[in-house]
Amino acid sequence: MDYDVIIVGAGPGGIFAAYELKKQRPELKVAVFEAGFALNKRRCPIDGEKIKSCIGCKTCSIMSGFGGAGAFSDGKYNITNDFGGTLYEHIGRKQAIELMRYVDEINMSHGGAGTKLYSTTGTALKKKCMQNKLKLLDASVRHLGTDINLVVLGALYDELKDQVDFHFESPVSSIEKLPDGFAVLVGDRRYTCRSCIASVGRSGSKWMEQVCRDLHIATSSNRVDLGVRVELPAVIFSHLTDELYESKIVYRTEKFEDNVRTFCMNPHGIVVNENTNGIITVNGHSYEDPARQTENTNFALLVAKHFSQPFKDSNGYGESIARLSNMLGGGVIVQRFGDLVRGRRSTEKRIEEGLVTPTLAATPGDLSLVLPKRILDGIIEMIYALDKIAPGTANDDTLLYGVEVKFYNMEVELDENLESCHPGLYVIGDGSGVTHSLSHASASGVHVARRIAQTI
Ligand SMILES: Cc1cc2nc3c(=O)[nH]c(=O)nc-3n(C[C@H](O)[C@H](O)[C@H](O)COP(=O)(O)OP(=O)(O)OC[C@H]3O[C@@H](n4cnc5c(N)ncnc54)[C@H](O)[C@@H]3O)c2cc1C
Repeated sequence: MDYDVIIVGAGPGGIFAAYELKKQRPELKVAVFEAGFALNKRRCPIDGEKIKSCIGCKTCSIMSGFGGAGAFSDGKYNITNDFGGTLYEHIGRKQAIELMRYVDEINMSHGGAGTKLYSTTGTALKKKCMQNKLKLLDASVRHLGTDINLVVLGALYDELKDQVDFHFESPVSSIEKLPDGFAVLVGDRRYTCRSCIASVGRSGSKWMEQVCRDLHIATSSNRVDLGVRVELPAVIFSHLTDELYESKIVYRTEKFEDNVRTFCMNPHGIVVNENTNGIITVNGHSYEDPARQTENTNFALLVAKHFSQPFKDSNGYGESIARLSNMLGGGVIVQRFGDLVRGRRSTEKRIEEGLVTPTLAATPGDLSLVLPKRILDGIIEMIYALDKIAPGTANDDTLLYGVEVKFYNMEVELDENLESCHPGLYVIGDGSGVTHSLSHASASGVHVARRIAQTI
């Protein structure tokens, strides 16, 4: 065998698996194969001047490379079982929280010390939300910020690079089952190992589906979240963001009884493009460094769409809607809330005259031509509900970027150790469909590493 353990993907799941394996069993030979670049080579070409929007690089540096999709993220580590994944269903609620706290400790000892841990415990905002038909979910959130998140990743890489074989720009094309382990194919080279951990995140979703088909691993898929990213002056949400940083608020619509929720809140942040498998959607993040902060806050409003028989391709549905916005706007569309409710498209002039300066150069357009009515109606209802706890949310100049899609990887059938039906093959992080966040993905890596350390 070339290695004891091969990890596919160097996102938070893969990194924490490597970290814990070396901590528990330093003598094990561990390799990480990553399709993207090393941290210091990751660069998105969008500079806001010469290149204003996504040019569809072959390897997207926002989504791939050391640090995974998390590298340029806001670094919000939510310590909760209420959202961010269903890891607790496999390993139990108590252990899931313990592992998320452990991940937080590691982040703190690798450059994160001094960053703030926010909590919803005892907040009066909960009552205010309830009084307005909104539910504030419980969580503790560590906000590293994009800049400190990169410091932490750099420190983890420095510590691991002499103990683990990192292979960058090395996409694994397939995993093969051997009588006593596994082989992974990278270009024309084949590497063998006793245990293999697939941690390929959202960008590796299609690849993961193929691996499951090839190895006859059962999967299921029926959910996609669709919506918009809202951008407004930071002062409108400051009473929430100063106290909680990120508030996860759920609203049940009157018309369709759908749940609409806030997601990924970035006080003083920026809105960015995200390229998943060639489809351009929207996301956001913010810096811890005040010099890099903006006057705006952004967050997503998402509606979960579950499908039953006979339709199974929930991601395909989300992709089609995102493609529609790409077709009409050449990428992401931006619209003023006032224009949306008046049933007219936004124009460059109307956006320029507005009070909110967009932080992403998107194409002014009409989101009602893209999003299904049911989803759009839910978002409009939620904006008016939020206006009651944060007056100004429903102002005409509030910007809506679309579409934001949260693709859920199909869920891979795994046991309580996150081990597949092939003993020694583990699937972790967002690629497993079990997690959808930095903290859950990282915790799943630690969980599997401990299991392998005991059994290999
Ligand atoms: C802009 C942005 C902001 C975000 N902000 C937050 C936030 O504040 N808080 C939060 O909790 N979550 C956030 N997220 C989500 C978070 O980043 C993910 O949940 C997390 O990174 C998942 O970790 P992972 O290790 O499972 O997968 P990923 O981070 O996606 O890493 C998977 C890695 O595998 C590699 N890979 C894929 N296929 C292959 C292959 N075949 N061979 C080799 N390598 C492969 C990819 O290149 C990638 O580097 C954000 C995401 C984005 C894009």
